[in-house]
Amino acid sequence: MIDKSKIDEIVSSYKKPAIATICSHSSLQIFHGARQEGIKSIGICLKGKERMYDAFPLAKPDEFIFVNSYSDLPASELVARNAIIVPHGSFVEYMGEKLDDFPVPVLGNRHSLMWERSREKMFDWIYKAGLRTPKVFLDPRQIDRPVIVKFPGAKGGAGYIVVNSYEEYREKVGERKAMVQEFMTGVRAYPHYFYTPLGKKGYPASNGSLELLGVDRRIESNADEIGRALHSGAHVPMGFTVVANEPMVLRESLLPEYLDIGKRVAEAADKLFGGIPGPFCVETIISDKMEVFTFEISARIVAGTNIFGNGSPYSVYTDGNPLSMGRRIAMEINRAAKAKKLDEIVY
Ligand code: AMP
Repeated sequence: MIDKSKIDEIVSSYKKPAIATICSHSSLQIFHGARQEGIKSIGICLKGKERMYDAFPLAKPDEFIFVNSYSDLPASELVARNAIIVPHGSFVEYMGEKLDDFPVPVLGNRHSLMWERSREKMFDWIYKAGLRTPKVFLDPRQIDRPVIVKFPGAKGGAGYIVVNSYEEYREKVGERKAMVQEFMTGVRAYPHYFYTPLGKKGYPASNGSLELLGVDRRIESNADEIGRALHSGAHVPMGFTVVANEPMVLRESLLPEYLDIGKRVAEAADKLFGGIPGPFCVETIISDKMEVFTFEISARIVAGTNIFGNGSPYSVYTDGNPLSMGRRIAMEINRAAKAKKLDEIVY
């Protein structure tokens, strides 16, 4: 991985930071937030894809850099334009391990993205945070209930399968490498957090503070419509491909626990790899006994935040302005630049 000192050197040479990201995932929100906070935005784009932004002029980046492939980005051109990369799900997926050595400042801590990439490491992080998780079956012969089988590199839940026994596992999974988790029933909730090391205003966490900006639930095909198929007599397996997101407001009595979950994840990140400044999300399922189970961490902005371009039922209480995650990111970059602390929020 590129040395942090090298990234600090680059960012300290920036006169006025710009925000850059790949034109996908949550880019409308990121560019819109940058514009609201007066920061120049740069869209890294495949030729032809820029036309979408004509439909959304307030979320169109100020400049485009056109590339032939998202896995091959022009680092020196980005640095020449004083770019700070905001990594989102597609960015992380397209770049893969190349992100580790990419010589451009990235908002947050690129170690966290490395921990997110490996499901085993991610679970170490969740355990370190002391969170309740679904049971993980290290030995598939011990499967004694419905389990969800997650293959490495699955994109947005695509390709996962649910099996009920070791025999079914052998038949459908065979020797393929996978993580096997207890299949949890309950209500899924995906809270969107922002951790800042730059101030103590807000919910105390580590050396800074934590904000809960919103909560979404994903709509996955075909798990979320499977009742129709089953009722019609079709026997289709459940699928978990993310298609869209919908907003959620949690029972207020759950908020203390959800703030604690965010705090624990941020503090465990501190201990394990030096922290997680910026946005992150924790994927949870709430049982009918009101127990919260965590099964995944996304160490960057998630697409569920796209629902709240104009703020959420939570962000309305954190900041008077309509506050999207994109805008919160831009505010952080402005604050850090003003205080000459950009090195504390990028790697
Ligand atoms: P993930 O790749 O871990 O984000 O999972 C994709 C989707 O699969 C989630 O959004 C859930 O709908 C579902 N899922 C993942 N893990 C579990 C689990 N342990 N129990 C039930 N559903 C799960």
